[in-house]
Amino acid sequence: MNKKVILATSLALLFVAGAVSASHSWGKYHWNLSTADTIANPLKLGDNVTTAEWDLSLLVASTDWNQSVLKNDVVVGNSNANCDPTSGRVEVCNASYGNNGWLGIASIWATRGKSNHITQGVVKLNDTYFDTPEYDSQAWRDLVTCQEIGHTFGLDHQDENFNNANLGTCMDYTNDPDGTILGQLDNRKLNQHDLDEMEAIYAHLNSTDGGGGGGGGNGKGKPKKNDVGASINHNNPSSWGRAVSQDAQGKNSVYVRDLGNGQVVVTHVTWIQ
Ligand SMILES: [Zn+2]
Ligand SMILES: [Zn+2]
Repeated sequence: MNKKVILATSLALLFVAGAVSASHSWGKYHWNLSTADTIANPLKLGDNVTTAEWDLSLLVASTDWNQSVLKNDVVVGNSNANCDPTSGRVEVCNASYGNNGWLGIASIWATRGKSNHITQGVVKLNDTYFDTPEYDSQAWRDLVTCQEIGHTFGLDHQDENFNNANLGTCMDYTNDPDGTILGQLDNRKLNQHDLDEMEAIYAHLNSTDGGGGGGGGNGKGKPKKNDVGASINHNNPSSWGRAVSQDAQGKNSVYVRDLGNGQVVVTHVTWIQ
């Protein structure tokens, strides 16, 4: 092989690797919403957070994700101490959820089968750990809030090794959230790959993808509490269903529970280190 052929082969391999790594969504779960839908009626992020720090993190995350094709809006929360879901929207909550091992958790409820439409989501941020010196910073709050909200839009992580260099996105595990400890990229932001993923997920035509409810409840009428939502106990991993993905350390990071009513719950966990 001459040098040119080797170069061409390497480039081809790079493209293949790029194509493979371009899929970081959870089995194509997505809201049944187009960009136009969400410009007219943004996906609601219910603000149930209780401190100025969390309000800031939520605002920053909302603003960052609004760079993507799916538009969101922070609205008054509709949840309770348990952070039960509301049909057609995402509820974001913080509380001292206890020494359960997780810093943040995101669950989405979605239709099974062809459509995989997300019908509701919750994000819970655990002050039991954010009130400890290791995590008590705006940088950690911003990172985890941004990442869990990204999961409720159907995105997965770009990298699950805490020790790899920051990719400049909150969808990347890190021990240096804002990049200032090691002088690297700021992981409280989004990178181009996030925006590309969002475009890939939400570019489909709703009219061709076969019903299934989806985000139909978005903003129409009074928000409704969903009893099914309460069946997931975030302090009891055995209620989360089957583990379907592990992080670089071999810890389970994504769980799927089949609710048996045509719906699944996908739960993504950010464990403390
Ligand atoms: Zn769809
Ligand atoms: Zn995550």
